[in-house]
Amino acid sequence: MVSKKINHQWVLRLIKGEELISTITNFCIDNQIKFGTISGIGAVDKAKIGLYDGKKKQYLIKEFFNEDMEITSLNGNVSLKEGNPFLHLHINLATSDFQVFGGHLLEAFISATGEIFLNEIDHAIDRKLDPETNLYLLDL
Ligand code: ZN
Repeated sequence: MVSKKINHQWVLRLIKGEELISTITNFCIDNQIKFGTISGIGAVDKAKIGLYDGKKKQYLIKEFFNEDMEITSLNGNVSLKEGNPFLHLHINLATSDFQVFGGHLLEAFISATGEIFLNEIDHAIDRKLDPETNLYLLDL
């Protein structure tokens, strides 16, 4: 990955083979980014997305393997969970028949490029476990 900072805005270019969440999380750790918004586009060839089942309190999972897909939308944020940068991202992926699948991003591997904008907010916001949903929610 290569990066450039313009004021509070980071521009990240991920390269083929990099896993999106871990690469950006490590970037946030290295640069002490504790809060911000994330958006992006690009292409992946392997991904795992989820939909949270509120009754079962777990994610339904859909996986894609060795399939070229466009990231038509990537949106989310970085905050802190137990003191460490934590990404919460949602993604839309377009397949070769131009269908779009979307959900909570669990894993995605870049196939061509990832063009990510990270708007760093000069603040620290933590997440706290919410017993009702069993999810770590923004602690505002
Ligand atoms: Zn989510």
